[in-house]
Amino acid sequence: MGVVNGARTQHRYQACQDEDCQRFACRVYREGFRHGYDQGYAEGYLAGKAAGYTEGYAAGAADASGSG
Ligand SMILES: [Zn+2]
Repeated sequence: MGVVNGARTQHRYQACQDEDCQRFACRVYREGFRHGYDQGYAEGYLAGKAAGYTEGYAAGAADASGSG
């Protein structure tokens, strides 16, 4: 039998890879992580899209009017 004496295996929710883990901290962390990820992704996408569009548009406009 593999009994661990005294030394508890640390279960850190940050490192928990088990999606079905029922520990409270793990569940809350997973949920928060997912929410944060979705939001961060959406915002990052919009910001990147806007910046890319502006730069691309400026470059395209300069090119179109510059070298006739
Ligand atoms: Zn866990």
